Amino acid sequence: MNNATNLEERVVQYCQDLIRIDTTNFGNNESNGETKAAEYIAEILKTLNIEYQIVGPDKKRSSIIARLPGTDNSLPGIVLHGHLDVVPVEEDKWSKPAFEALIDQEMIWGRGAVDMKNGNAMILASLFELVKTGWRPKRSLTLVFFADEEAGGALGSHFVTKNYPGYFQNCTEAVGEVGGFSHTLSNGVRLYLIETAQKGIAWMKLSATGNAGHGSMINNENAIAKLSRAITNLSNHKFPITIKDSVRSLLEETASAHGTKFDEKDPEKIVALLGTLTKLVSATLANTANPTMLNAGYKVNVIPGEASAHVDGRFLPGNADTFLADIRNIVGQDIKVEAETFDVALEAPFYTNIVHLMTESLAAEDPAARVVPYMLSGGTDAKALSKFGIKGYGFTPLLLPNDLDFTSLFHGHDERVPISSLKFGARTMHRFIKAL
Ligand SMILES: [Zn+2]
Repeated sequence: MNNATNLEERVVQYCQDLIRIDTTNFGNNESNGETKAAEYIAEILKTLNIEYQIVGPDKKRSSIIARLPGTDNSLPGIVLHGHLDVVPVEEDKWSKPAFEALIDQEMIWGRGAVDMKNGNAMILASLFELVKTGWRPKRSLTLVFFADEEAGGALGSHFVTKNYPGYFQNCTEAVGEVGGFSHTLSNGVRLYLIETAQKGIAWMKLSATGNAGHGSMINNENAIAKLSRAITNLSNHKFPITIKDSVRSLLEETASAHGTKFDEKDPEKIVALLGTLTKLVSATLANTANPTMLNAGYKVNVIPGEASAHVDGRFLPGNADTFLADIRNIVGQDIKVEAETFDVALEAPFYTNIVHLMTESLAAEDPAARVVPYMLSGGTDAKALSKFGIKGYGFTPLLLPNDLDFTSLFHGHDERVPISSLKFGARTMHRFIKAL
């Protein structure tokens, strides 16, 4: 590494180098190269004389954390965060190797190209260019790259915030992944979506019990039948639509860009104008609960005594206290509902100084930029940071080609990032960090 001589070369180099370190997170506490990736970042910080710590529950699951003191102690600190890990790859479904970071069609191909080794590279390349000239931020800056984001962060963001809270004291905002990307509407208006909210997570296990017995006999207490009825009820259930501030602003802006008005009673009409973003934004209008795993039985002529299913539940901000009770009502009292993973929903204000700085940075690189908030249907490490009262924003700026279905690349096959988008992101991130 470090053959790069400027910001744009450096961001490409860092992105490729990081993709080539396989950091697959398999879940079940199994992961590969997070520590190697943390050590790679440590080398960059060393050349900049930035002190850092590599920390984790064991030597294999490392996060890296550093603090740049600010020049104005009266200002609150800010967190810049990324994650080191990536989701697994089904190699045979890819048209290119997933960990070689090959360049083809002016794009870098590989796992992590958009989630989120691109973002890590933007932050690191920007800091390199700034810090080597003696620049210091006004606000003190906590820089952290977490392990284990893709499995909920127990061994990454939750571990680090629990054991190293000092790094986050006095910080009021955090800037991380999945936001700041462009989305061009059918009429040519180019939106940039800053993530200001995210749904909460309730990964649930549903279990039914019944009478085990011979498959040839009458059995009115069949666990599989009970569970199936519950799953059908849950799948048929329509959760009520609730428009949160972040979603309302996005839909109002989208409507106005199309010369029409947003009607709160018919949000889907405007959501449909969002093209490839429709499936994400639709999911932020209401709670959702998707069955994702089933487990029952072991032999065709044996009725099992138990059956279970896993359901991926996501709830809107404000629904944390009622969501599980709602699920229990829908599936009925015969079914046991346990939340195996439960994490908060977030919503941060849009009209703030930090978003203003993001907007100015984007506008300097793309004068046509129209910046809007949105709610992520998934979750990020911002959830762990929220326990300090830190407001989370998603900002990994990318000016994307109109025909690229960006959100499908997340965890998808043939994950890739256009090099021009990556360079745009680095220039924008550089402007943003410089203003902090
Ligand atoms: Zn991610």
